Amino acid sequence: MPLPSIDVPFLTDFLTELLNIPSPTGYAEKAIAFTEDALAKFPELTMRRNRKGALLVEWPGKQQNEPRALTAHADTLGAMVKDIKPNGRLKLTQIGGYAWNTIEGEGVTVFPSRGEPVRGVVLLNMSSGHVFGRQVSETKRDEDSLEIRLDVRTSSVEDTRGFGIQIGDFVAFDPRVEVTNGFIRSRHLDDKACVACIVAAVKAMHEAGLTPTQRTHLMISNYEEVGHGAATGFPADLSELVAVDMAAVGGGQTSDEFHATLCVKDSGGPYHYELSQKLRRLAEDQAIEYKVDIYPYYGSDGEAYWRAGGDVAVALIGPGVDASHNYERTHTDALIATTQWILAYLLS
Ligand SMILES: [Zn+2]
Repeated sequence: MPLPSIDVPFLTDFLTELLNIPSPTGYAEKAIAFTEDALAKFPELTMRRNRKGALLVEWPGKQQNEPRALTAHADTLGAMVKDIKPNGRLKLTQIGGYAWNTIEGEGVTVFPSRGEPVRGVVLLNMSSGHVFGRQVSETKRDEDSLEIRLDVRTSSVEDTRGFGIQIGDFVAFDPRVEVTNGFIRSRHLDDKACVACIVAAVKAMHEAGLTPTQRTHLMISNYEEVGHGAATGFPADLSELVAVDMAAVGGGQTSDEFHATLCVKDSGGPYHYELSQKLRRLAEDQAIEYKVDIYPYYGSDGEAYWRAGGDVAVALIGPGVDASHNYERTHTDALIATTQWILAYLLS
């Protein structure tokens, strides 16, 4: 059976908009709401939030003897204000796992719990080459050496507090989205790229008048980057879960920016063999070129559900993302392949 056609401009536009919505883990509500609005156009879906704030979607299927689920996460890496320094600048604590040097020079928005967002940038505390010379290159980047310089007049704790900023305020890094020659370059393609693939798959099914073979549950989770996103929220009769998340690209990896990858093992160990085999067959039947890979430093929402006691088969697919948890990049080809793979699974 041929797959329904994918609206690629829609996929790219939706992704660009989603990337531009700040959503560090713990503060992802607007990204969840944006996704909910996009899915609200398809009346066959029933949607609700769980108390944790994830978006849960039920999609009736032709059968429901083996219900399935797909998940992707809308939360991203980010930071929180750890301290206001005596000079009015901010010390950070990380949300999610990344190297400190990957955020140096990045524009940020601080979201005070009261008051307007404040812009700024992450800088080394000895950033001027004319003042600090070699120390600019030799200082180790960490929570003590990096700080936020705010774009408001402040030189004291009191000044900064005057803008409503307090310890615990969320900090979002600029996504810097750029679409060129089919490449999409942005922070936080992990995992907004896969949220976009799922939404594009729903749209393709809807426009072709197709129904999933099995009742299918979609979860757009909001706590993945800290390890427990999809730990809860699936129905008790669920039989399979396919986590859709970025593939890790780099030396020694088979994954690349132009293909979707089946991950067979990551830091949490092997995924479910039979479900993985089924996904390989589906890709081959539809002539979707795919990679098989192992991710050395990686965990997924599929494992979060397993660790929480989920008794289902779990597999992981997703588009190759270069420089992950850094300034990331993927290509439309990988997003199309991932969406096709999701469609093949829905129709299998
Ligand atoms: Zn991810």
